[in-house]
Amino acid sequence: MVPPCFQTHDPGTFIRSFEPFGAAMNFPRLFAPLDLGHTTLPNRILMGSMHTGLEDKASDYDKLAAYFAERARGGVGLMVTGGIAPSIEGWLAPFGGRLTMPWHVARHRKLTRAVHAEGGKLCMQILHAGRYGYHPLSVAPSKIKSPITPFTPRALSSRGVERTIGDFVRCARLAQDAGYDGIEVMGSEGYLINQFLTARTNQRNDAWGGDAAKRMRFPVEIVRRTREAVGRDFIIIYRLSMLDLVENGQDWNEIVTLAKAIEAAGASIINTGIGWHEARVPTIVTSVPRAGFAWVTKKLKGEVSIPLITTNRINMPEVAEQILASGEADMVSMARPLLADPEWPRKAQAGRSERINTCIACNQACLDHVFQKRRASCLLNPRACHETELRIDPAPARKNIAVIGAGPAGLACASTLAERGHAVTLIDQASDIGGQFNYAKRIPGKEEFHETLRYFRHRLEDTGVTVKLGQTADAASLAGAGHDEVVIATGITPRRIHFPGSDDARVLSYLDVLAHNKPVGQRVAIIGAGGIGFDVAEFLVEHPPSATLDISRWTREWGVNMQLDTRGGLAPAKPETPAREVWLLQRSEGRPGARLNKTTGWVHRATLKAKRVNMLGSVNYERFDDQGLHITVDGKPQVLPVDNIIVCAGQEPNRALADTLTTAGIKTHIIGGADVAAELDAKRAIDQGTRLAATL
Ligand code: FAD
Ligand code: NAP
Ligand code: SF4
Repeated sequence: MVPPCFQTHDPGTFIRSFEPFGAAMNFPRLFAPLDLGHTTLPNRILMGSMHTGLEDKASDYDKLAAYFAERARGGVGLMVTGGIAPSIEGWLAPFGGRLTMPWHVARHRKLTRAVHAEGGKLCMQILHAGRYGYHPLSVAPSKIKSPITPFTPRALSSRGVERTIGDFVRCARLAQDAGYDGIEVMGSEGYLINQFLTARTNQRNDAWGGDAAKRMRFPVEIVRRTREAVGRDFIIIYRLSMLDLVENGQDWNEIVTLAKAIEAAGASIINTGIGWHEARVPTIVTSVPRAGFAWVTKKLKGEVSIPLITTNRINMPEVAEQILASGEADMVSMARPLLADPEWPRKAQAGRSERINTCIACNQACLDHVFQKRRASCLLNPRACHETELRIDPAPARKNIAVIGAGPAGLACASTLAERGHAVTLIDQASDIGGQFNYAKRIPGKEEFHETLRYFRHRLEDTGVTVKLGQTADAASLAGAGHDEVVIATGITPRRIHFPGSDDARVLSYLDVLAHNKPVGQRVAIIGAGGIGFDVAEFLVEHPPSATLDISRWTREWGVNMQLDTRGGLAPAKPETPAREVWLLQRSEGRPGARLNKTTGWVHRATLKAKRVNMLGSVNYERFDDQGLHITVDGKPQVLPVDNIIVCAGQEPNRALADTLTTAGIKTHIIGGADVAAELDAKRAIDQGTRLAATL
């Protein structure tokens, strides 16, 4: 049975499940202060460390200060910066952020001053990448290359280990000089400290390797010597890898022994780390169940007496409160949810959690950007990390503006225009807002998209947008309506394709399946292996309800051992039998899915592989008849004996209305899919809608 707060909120019932605005005690455990001895945190919400790309250049620290200040104003109890290297060897990438010299302190003071001015608290994360360093200077306990970087690290000498500990301590002292409230020692996700802790990456036979007791000396000495250097009145968070999710990772007894030693060495708080970056189990993407790893932190409760923070896929106050109420942790960490909505804590405390812009864990504008060496932002909140540049100021003059289309582009545009003071009418031909998000939310593992629609429903109401549903806008109806300007956000039409038999009734579009619930047979070919082709394949092979809603079922499918009695917490994966036999096809060469997003594409590919989906590239579509779909692959003919074909062959802009309005002399702007359908996603749609609205 899934606890109610883990279920996707039905828009109708969501509001009823919360106390009204201003209620006295909302989420009492989440908003209980946490006494750390020398200081008290106002609540149990940690904004976890998240690399934004602004840490790397001194010239970006004003922007970073504005980013943190906005979140401090939002009421978060404690924040942690993105990882800062304690040495050049410890860089994640060349010229990444580091705090190694006294003259680096000034830029960090900008952050601490901005946060303290808003009444917030900020810790700096010290991250040594070890063999994950994407540069030729990387070091590690042993000379063993990681599977995710091209550089083989140099093995640290014994003196090198001592020097590295000294680097951590010096970095912590400089952080103290910069005015931080504390530091976080990054001991998880497979970075240097984690590399010392397992025989997988530590094959030394000196005082720093050989057995578990020697392997753990490195982190314990870092914490002990740091505490000595910074004194008692400074927070030290230790991020402890509680579930490595890699072969030959730590076992549970080693983890408990390490936690106790870290407490004895002087840490104030232990934060949870889940999975090395090279792990083949997803840990934060949207198809991971909410709070899907809080049970790991709970296992450590009672073993140490300092507070424990849990993390991963916690995005709503009901989930956080339940974790604290059930004793799984003392505090919850959320990074991306505060990127999506800096006012998350204040809204929750005021009993307005239905107003939270909920992180959908898509990674599209945050982690994917970081991997592309671009500045992070948020698909739902393009202002994230652009606070000083993308400003939503009051409009100089109130205009009467119509927005046609209530998909992501139109929703973002209409609500931002109204927030700025314009009179806005939002028109959609459908009976509900959301556009294609109404199809996306039906995909197993994309249940979070419901939350975005719930958020926008409230935002339209709060900003006073007039919403007209079930009305098809046309030039005639718009011409005499007195609008100063019209924004066209009418989206796309699915691309139709033609080959002999393609007009057969058994050839469906993805809209037939996701919007019109047309029946689909047991054997199906999907034409087109883009984002929608993959999503439709997942929809067809999964037995509802989705495994995302059930932690035990999900861990079984992905091979996570909830008993924690194997090294790394791994178990043989037991994927469920697929609901259908599916072929996923593309014309281009190479493996389908190669163009999916960096941090999530591998999860989609692994999911379909586990469900035995046949993925083929270099396909020519010849004809469809009673035998099935006739194709040639590299010139060789094949017949796929399928009952149905589903076409997911991309999209074309739906902009006929824009063309007519422009001809009629009405001032028109075009956004989202109506503007450019190729490679359109919701990130671009929302960004374009928001940016246009900020300027009108
Ligand atoms: P749409 O969402 O297409 O909205 C257009 C709206 O205009 C519709 O509501 C339509 O009814 C209305 N309209 C059209 N003509 C008229 C008219 N004449 N009068 C009144 N109303 C009109 N993107 C991501 O970034 N990440 C994902 O994970 C993701 N998953 C997806 C999964 C699926 C199954 C699908 C189908 C799409 C997914 N997308 C995803 C793509 C994303 O949904 C689109 O990029 C986005 O919806 C485009 O926004 P839009 O506002 O431009 O258009
Ligand atoms: P897409 O990513 O452009 O993929 C279209 C697919 O159709 C490709 O595999 C293409 O490959 C094939 N195709 C194109 N023209 C064809 C033709 N004439 N005949 C046969 N096949 C053809 O588009 P989409 O899948 O429709 O997705 C739309 C947008 O939604 C995407 O841009 C994506 O960003 C977004 N989306 C994102 C996610 C996500 O998780 N981030 C999920 C869903 C959708 P070949 O040309 O090689 O056959
Ligand atoms: Fe969350 Fe997606 Fe925004 Fe990242 S981009 S913060 S995952 S909603």
